[in-house]
Amino acid sequence: MLLSFIHISLLDLLDIFLVALLLFQLYRLIKGTIAINIFVGIFAVYLFWLLVKAMHMELLSSILGQFIGVGVIALIIVFQQEIRRFLLILGGKYRLPHWLSLSTRFSTDLPETASSEIISIVKACESMSASRTGALIVIARKSELDQVLETGDEINADISSRLIEAIFFKNSPLHDGAMIIVHKRIKAARCQLPTAENIYLSAKYGMRHRAAVGITEKADAVVVIVSEETGEISLSVDGQLSKRLSAGELQSKLVEELK
Ligand code: ATP
Ligand code: MG
Repeated sequence: MLLSFIHISLLDLLDIFLVALLLFQLYRLIKGTIAINIFVGIFAVYLFWLLVKAMHMELLSSILGQFIGVGVIALIIVFQQEIRRFLLILGGKYRLPHWLSLSTRFSTDLPETASSEIISIVKACESMSASRTGALIVIARKSELDQVLETGDEINADISSRLIEAIFFKNSPLHDGAMIIVHKRIKAARCQLPTAENIYLSAKYGMRHRAAVGITEKADAVVVIVSEETGEISLSVDGQLSKRLSAGELQSKLVEELK
């Protein structure tokens, strides 16, 4: 047989599977960000270098070779944010598949119920959505967002829907910027978030939505946004935005993300 010289062992299959998984994660990570353009650019230079080398154009190939030689360091610098996000996902977000996890195996089959904090957040968002009050609520997970907390005013109070609404009320001195929730407590308000690098975010979304996507691109937080212009409720996780959520949808997504 023609292909009889090819021996594929189980380990090779595992190798191929892991590389495919890595490439897929890389694609998910940089999809929709400016990084994908840079990646295509670097890949084009690499292809050009191979071509130049094959054609024995010594001078050009040695110049490009120098460039490719420091490529790994250049890649680390250029993709610093993406590598950070990848490691964050690896370290904190990968959970066992549902059917494998011991806690689901041995727990009773009760459906997930929302905690009182989630219910308060959803209630406040529903009411702020109806009154077209803008809000930006960042819920920290593993990363406690210390740098962002420093930019705002400390609060450190229990979560209640009335407190959330009071903070975002238009005449409140604390309504501007983002509220940060850490370990089920409102830690600060008026915080400033980094803006998004996602260049494919529709132009109709302004700074509030960009700031929400910005922080979830850089940290593992979950962000709830209520639009002042439309009353729409959105949720940002992992640099993506889920738009036009009903109160029920927001609640189930929060339960899922904050498990
Ligand atoms: P909306 O639909 O509510 O108008 P938007 O996405 O159009 O939201 P903007 O109108 O540009 O956003 O911004 C509204 C508010 O968003 C600002 O007044 C401010 O409170 C908040 N905001 C904007 N940028 C940031 C930021 N980088 N960090 C925290 N809050 C921000
Ligand atoms: Mg606006």
